[in-house]
Amino acid sequence: MDLVSYPNKPIYDIPIVNTTAIVPTTPSATTSSPSSSTTTPSRYENQKRRDWNTFCQYLRNHKPPLSLPMCSGAHVLEFLHYLDQFGKTKVHNQTCPFFGLPNPPAPCPCPLRQAWGSLDALIGRLRAAFEEHGGTPEANPFGARAVRLYLREVRDFQSKSRGVSYDKKRKRPKPKLIPPANAN
Ligand SMILES: [Zn+2]
Repeated sequence: MDLVSYPNKPIYDIPIVNTTAIVPTTPSATTSSPSSSTTTPSRYENQKRRDWNTFCQYLRNHKPPLSLPMCSGAHVLEFLHYLDQFGKTKVHNQTCPFFGLPNPPAPCPCPLRQAWGSLDALIGRLRAAFEEHGGTPEANPFGARAVRLYLREVRDFQSKSRGVSYDKKRKRPKPKLIPPANAN
């Protein structure tokens, strides 16, 4: 249950190329063109294809090798843990003095992980890709309950650890109390 208890050093030794492509945070791509929202509908499709290839490669390199029909939610979680070693998001342990600080004043030895938002988007793309490749929704390992629970845990922990809120629009600035305009 507790994310702090992950092994610090992943035991995986499977070389996978191009894993950085999984992290869809390239600021230069978003600033290049103001009209990109209307002109690049295929960016998501390209990313989805790359993610799918990476996952299939992961299955082939798995020891013992796995085929897609054998793949369960547990394997998806294994894949996500594997990706953490390529993460770029500092996630403080509960014992770190900077736990909960959005802008820590100094470096610390806490691990870098995949950001929750990246994992969440990745699972969404792989879930769609699985069904596009002939899988049924019932058999979709990316939609497994364990995967949903894991993502929720990651979100909650990273939110606390990094002192940021991932809630959508929960924090609306309070309107200032304006005294009711009586008469006149
Ligand atoms: Zn730390």
